[in-house]
Amino acid sequence: MVNQALTYQTIETHPPIDFSSDTETKGALEVLKWAYDTYKEEIVYACSFGIEGIVLIDLISKVKPDAKIVFLDTDVHFKETYELIEKVKNRYPTLQIEMKKPKLTLAEQAQEYGDELWFTNPNKCCEIRKVIPLNEVLSDPVAWISGLRREQSETRKHTQFLNKDNKFKSIKVCPLIHWTWKDVWRYAHKNSLDYNILHDRGYPSIGCKTCTQPAINMDDLRSGRWTGKGKTECGLHL
Ligand code: SF4
Repeated sequence: MVNQALTYQTIETHPPIDFSSDTETKGALEVLKWAYDTYKEEIVYACSFGIEGIVLIDLISKVKPDAKIVFLDTDVHFKETYELIEKVKNRYPTLQIEMKKPKLTLAEQAQEYGDELWFTNPNKCCEIRKVIPLNEVLSDPVAWISGLRREQSETRKHTQFLNKDNKFKSIKVCPLIHWTWKDVWRYAHKNSLDYNILHDRGYPSIGCKTCTQPAINMDDLRSGRWTGKGKTECGLHL
C-alpha cells in the first residue's frame, strides 16, 4: 500500500524529510531505502546507463534486488551502451530491466517526419523517442528515480531529493543530488563497477549517438550533448 501522504498532490505541503544521517553516500542510500519503503512496487528507475546510472543501480540493488528499471531505447544508442546493459543484466540478474521502445520505428519516423529528425527537429525527435515512452512508463507508478546531480548544469542546480514532477504527474526521487563527478567515479572504482567505455574517450555524458559527441569543455559535462543546437535537455527534466 502506497503512503498516500506523499503522493503527487500533497508532496509540496508535506514536512521535509531529513536524510542527513547517511553521510557515506551523501543521503543516497537513505533516500532509496525511504523511497522503496514508501512506494514499494510503485516506483521505477529510469536509467540512462551513464556513470551515475551505474552507481545508482548498484545502490538500488542493495535496497531492492528486484527493482524495476527502465531504459528508454531510442534505437539510436551507441553499441557500447547496449553492451554495457548486457553486462549489468549479468551482474544483477534479479533486477527487472525493461528496454522501452518508442511507438515509431526509425523508418516510420523518417516516413512521417523526414530523414534524420534529430538534426531537423531534435525536440520533436526527443518527444517521440523519449518523452512519450517515459510518459507511458509512468502512467502507473507513483514515483520515479533519476540520477540528476546539482553539479551537472544550471538547470539542475535546484534539484531536491524529492521533486514534484509536473510534466509526468509523478514524484521524481533524485538520490545523487549532492554527489560530485569525483564522488561518482570514486564509488564506481571502489566497487569495481562496469561502465560505458565511452567515458574513457571524452564522453562524460552519453545519450543517443546521433546527438552526442565528446565534451568540448570538461567544466561543462553536458557540453557534448546537442552541440550547436541550443538544446541542453531531452525534455525529461524540464
Ligand atoms: S537525443 Fe537525439 S536521437 Fe535521441 S531522441 Fe533526442 S533528438 Fe532523437
